[in-house]
Formats: sequence, C-alpha cells, structure tokens
Amino acid sequence: MLSSSLSQLEKESPAYICPYDQACSYLEEAAKELKLDQSILEVLSHPRKVVTVSIPVKRDNSQVQVLAGHRVQHCDILGPYKGGTRYHPAVTLREVSALAMLMTWKCALLGIPYGGAKGGIAIDPKFYSVGELERITRRYTSELIKDIGPAVDIPAPDMGTSAREMAWMMDTYSVNVGHAVPGVVTGKPISIGGSRGREMATGRGVMFIIREALADKGQSLAGARIAIQGFGNVGSAAALLLHEAGAKVIAVSTGSGGIFCEDGLDIPALKAYVAENRKGVVGFEHTTPISNADLLTLPCDVLIPAALENQITEDNVNQIQAKIVAEAANGPVTLVANQVLESKGVTVLPDILANAGGVVVSYLEWVQGLSYVFWDEERVNKELENLMVQAYRQVMQQSKIRQIPLRLAAYTLGVGRVAQALSDRGLYP
Ligand code: NAD
Repeated sequence: MLSSSLSQLEKESPAYICPYDQACSYLEEAAKELKLDQSILEVLSHPRKVVTVSIPVKRDNSQVQVLAGHRVQHCDILGPYKGGTRYHPAVTLREVSALAMLMTWKCALLGIPYGGAKGGIAIDPKFYSVGELERITRRYTSELIKDIGPAVDIPAPDMGTSAREMAWMMDTYSVNVGHAVPGVVTGKPISIGGSRGREMATGRGVMFIIREALADKGQSLAGARIAIQGFGNVGSAAALLLHEAGAKVIAVSTGSGGIFCEDGLDIPALKAYVAENRKGVVGFEHTTPISNADLLTLPCDVLIPAALENQITEDNVNQIQAKIVAEAANGPVTLVANQVLESKGVTVLPDILANAGGVVVSYLEWVQGLSYVFWDEERVNKELENLMVQAYRQVMQQSKIRQIPLRLAAYTLGVGRVAQALSDRGLYP
C-alpha cells in the first residue's frame, strides 16, 4: 500500500532513508525484546487507515492548483487517534505513516489514552499567502470531515502549522456539523478552548527531560552548553526555557543558517529579532554565522535537533561531540547513527520521550474541553512536569532492568502497553 506511493525521486535518491522502514525496524526490535507474538506484531506494523485527498486551491492569481493531503491513522486500540498536521515540502505518505506509528508508542509511553495519527500536505507555507493557506486548510479539513472528530481523530499543529491553522480546522469542522466542536483539534487559540501552556509545551517537555538527564549525570542546567538546530515552535521554546534555567544556548539555526556565541545567546532578544525580521536568526548582534552542519558537530553538553528527520546520519555521526542528544524533532537520528552514538556512550533521549510534551498538553486541552473546566497555566505546567518526569523515570528503570539502550527501553514500554491492550481487547471479528 505504502510502496506504491513512494515517488520515483525518493527511490532513486542514494541518500534516501525510508522513514516507514525505519519506524518498522524500531518496532521489530522492541517486539523481539518483548518476545511479542508474531500476529500482534503483524497488526501493529500496519496503519489502520490511510487517507489521501485532493485539495484544489484557487491561488491569488486565480490559477487552480491541486495539492495532495494525507492523514494516516495508525492504531486506535487505546483511544481516539491523535497527531499533528505538517505543512512542509518534504511531506510524503511514507513519512506521515512513520510519524503516525511513532505517535502510537509516544501516547502509550506517556500513559495517554490515544492512538497515533499524523497528517500532512507537501507545501512550503512560505510560498503561499495567508488567504491561500486558509483555503488549503479549510478544504483539507472538509475532505477529512468523516475521518476526524473529538472521539475519532484529533489533529494538532506540527511543522509549518500553528494555532492559526487549528482555528481554521475547528471552524470548518464546526460549520459542517452545525455546532461548535472545540474538541476536534488541540493546539488552538485560548479564545476558542485552547489550553494555557500548549504553545510552549513541547519545548517545556524537552527542558524537563534534559534537566533530569543532566541531574542523573550529576550536572545541572545552570551553565550547561547547549546547541539547538531549528528555532521554530519547539526549538525556540526549549531555547527560552533552558536560557531561563541558566543554561548557555551557544548556537541555534533555522533553515536559512545558524549563529554561534561562545558566551551564550540572549534568547529573549533573539526571539524578538526573529519576530521582527522574519528571515531567521542570521545577522543577530554579537554572533558568528554557523552552518547547520557545523552546529551539529559543536562541542557541547547537549545537542537538540529540533527541525527535521535524518539530521544525524552515518555521514556525520562520528563528528558529534555532544554528551547528550535530545531528540526534540521526530526521527532526527537515523537507526545506524543511533547505534554509533550508543556505542560511544552518548545519551540519546529518544523522540517518543523527549518531545512528548506537546501531546501531553494536547491531552490536557482535550480533557479541559470535554469537562468545560479550564485550568491556569501553573496547573497545566505541573501536570506536564509530573507526566514527563514519570515517563523519564520509567524509561531509565526499563533500561536498567533489561540492560538495553534508552530508545529501545522507551519503545518496549510504549509497544508493550499497546500490545497488552490489543491482546486484552482481542481481534474483531
Ligand atoms: P516549526 O515549523 O515551528 O519549526 C521548524 C524549525 O526548523 C524552523 O526554525 C525552521 O527554519 C527549521 N528548519 C527547517 N529546515 C531546516 C534545516 N534544513 N536545517 C535547520 N533548520 C531547519 O516546527 P516545530 O513545530 O517546531 O517542529 C519541529 C520538529 O519537532 C518536527 O520534527 C516536529 O515533528 C517535532 N514536534 C513538534 C511538536 C509541536 O508541538 N510543534 C511536537 C512534537 C514533535
């Protein structure tokens, strides 16, 4: 099913790493460790539903362009499907399918009653006006109207989307069903039922996990040297919170290049600079430009890839000098690179743990929406901290008990819980 959608270009690219094959390899490794029944592995290896829709959009010049929009629902054994919506030129059905599977294990690892899903459209939002993006988002939502809903599948923001797109999705869904349905998406503006603390949640979760990992090494956040690839929703929030905790964020980057400052960047001032110039971080005062490739190999305590998949690969893994790699992005370290890092004693904090803060607060937003009771930010942040620290401790314990690396430990916990639920529910018919 998925191989037919793999473009010729992808297949011919020598550097191509299939994200879905990679996701399946991690699942198989966890299944082997857990001695899972082959029939359970067979069920968990396949997404339950794969939807691709055509999105005809009238551009501002009156030309009509037809885009492909995907939504993949991997597994709803534990509850409704949940997952982000990505607008990025590199979106493919295979990537969306891999990310949907990752979401299943992430929710189970954090003890959240959701299944995994993901959506995406292969566009670069930079090249579309706000009006065009609104038309694309609304048509995409209406094409998926029967496949999403607060008890069915609940989209959220991901790369290239934000609270704005979630508001358009919520409105389109609500207008179509005839009444307001805030619970159909999370990560929406507070004015329409969004949760306090959601915008910073993924970055805050990354900060909590790094804090715990450093503490386990007898180090604190204060003075820790940190490099961050990506300065979007996740990267900039993590940078700000780490800076506030006393860490030295020595380098950050965006798609258009990075900056370095030995003494640590002034993150609040950098955020203001980026908001004003809208062209990335390069040019910020008292900094030296640095390429994305060089940022990854800087000597530092913690490296946070917070942009794209497959950034640390066979080609650059031997140059990585960080003691801890915290996967804020999904899948930034390839399977082979991960093995090399583990063999060198680098602590790799896996994506399904490190970047789970977003889905945790999405869940808290959904719970608040369903109960019509809304919490203050302090309560949201505290609940987030409790769930993140609890999951971190469970992963460390699993790693110790089974003598396995952290990623495999996280996967065995997530996959094991879903497998148990599948076995308890049984197979229909
Ligand atoms: P975003 O679109 O807000 O930001 C992405 C950042 O990456 C931008 O600064 C962009 O310039 C930069 N970037 C793009 N291409 C790059 C390149 N080639 N080199 C360096 N930087 C590049 O996206 P986001 O929401 O911050 O998501 C980032 C990652 O975190 C993604 O992998 C996403 O799946 C993952 N994630 C996001 C959330 C969330 O709540 N937003 C939750 C979990 C995981």
